[in-house]
Amino acid sequence: MIKFIRDWEIKRDDFAYEIDGMVVKVDKKEYQEKCGSTAHHPRWATAFKFKAKQATSILRDIEYQIGKVGSVTPVAKIDPVYLAGVTISSISLHNDDFIRAKDLRLGDTVLVERAGDVIPYIVKSFPELRKGNELEILFPKFCPANKVEEVALIREEGEAAWRCANCTCGEQNLQKMIFHVSKEAMDIDGFGKSYVEKFHQLGWLKDISDIYNLDYDKIAGLEGFGARSVENLQISIEKAKKNPIQKLLHGLSIHHLGKKASKLIAREVSHVLDLTSWDEEKFTNIKDIGPVVARNVMEYFKNPVNIEMLRKMETFGVNLTQTEEDKPVAVSEDAPLFGKTILFTGTLTTMDRKIAQELAEKAGAKVLSGVSSQLNILVAGEKAGSKLKKAQELGTVEIWDEEKFAGKII
Ligand SMILES: [Zn+2]
Repeated sequence: MIKFIRDWEIKRDDFAYEIDGMVVKVDKKEYQEKCGSTAHHPRWATAFKFKAKQATSILRDIEYQIGKVGSVTPVAKIDPVYLAGVTISSISLHNDDFIRAKDLRLGDTVLVERAGDVIPYIVKSFPELRKGNELEILFPKFCPANKVEEVALIREEGEAAWRCANCTCGEQNLQKMIFHVSKEAMDIDGFGKSYVEKFHQLGWLKDISDIYNLDYDKIAGLEGFGARSVENLQISIEKAKKNPIQKLLHGLSIHHLGKKASKLIAREVSHVLDLTSWDEEKFTNIKDIGPVVARNVMEYFKNPVNIEMLRKMETFGVNLTQTEEDKPVAVSEDAPLFGKTILFTGTLTTMDRKIAQELAEKAGAKVLSGVSSQLNILVAGEKAGSKLKKAQELGTVEIWDEEKFAGKII
């Protein structure tokens, strides 16, 4: 079988189409049944991948791309080379460390690899082929996209990427706007990446606030925009203005501020701009918000450029006030576990731990992470160990079994 596959690996270049491997199958029905299947795939059919295709080229130049939080990604420009079905001329180099680790210089001969539909990759350079005129790659010290002023790039501890933090360069704002309108953030239906790029190019979108102040008559005058599509775009934007602030916070592209953290913070503020007065402690007092998120959000709300942008958004009708959706689920005082603290330990047999915690929260309890004098109730499942022992020693904790808990929350 291996020999058969190796033979075809040699012959694959003669095909008019690309193949990146073969599938080996057991053909007897009886054996197929014997092999059975996993939850995802049959065990009697398996893919055998050929070696990735490689080629050499010359590294000519490096371009720097800026992401939405300002990460600067170096991209190698190489002499075009045909590999596994496509012509490759650009390859991401990830970060500065990658360039050092591969010892890459401008003018170097490099080995390029691409397997199947995988993105191309520079395997190595060939220092032995150097002629002496190759140039060292100097990673920029300042934001390569900001032509107006020099903005120093920063690199935080534990991070691989250099960033232009809080930079107002157009490129970073463009990436932020593309994210802002996306499904993941404000979910502005029908406002795709290509529209953002087009309006940005025309000078109509400089930062996020401009999204909410578009001149629809001007858009209708563009080629390819029918009255209907402009109307739909306007409806979507007006709808997005009413979004809960958790979506807006996420849509600002603050470094390290993900969807979950945005939701947790949105629960605690009545207005987005209240965050300008928050200190680190106030953030980290929220369960699951760490100092890294805290510092990045604080930095964002200390920057007057951002504040001015948010104020502008508000005047354009964007909601910056906490909505019902942002608020934590309200619990009435006659909820069965109102005001109690609770902790689950051991194996629960009738319900999933996560579901039990949610039910407890809905019943008004606060779920704690450890046994302490703050704890009121410990629900001990099967094989409960040290936490149960500690609670018994404390003597102040009510100890329930699963059945009792189920009975209480009904
Ligand atoms: Zn920049």
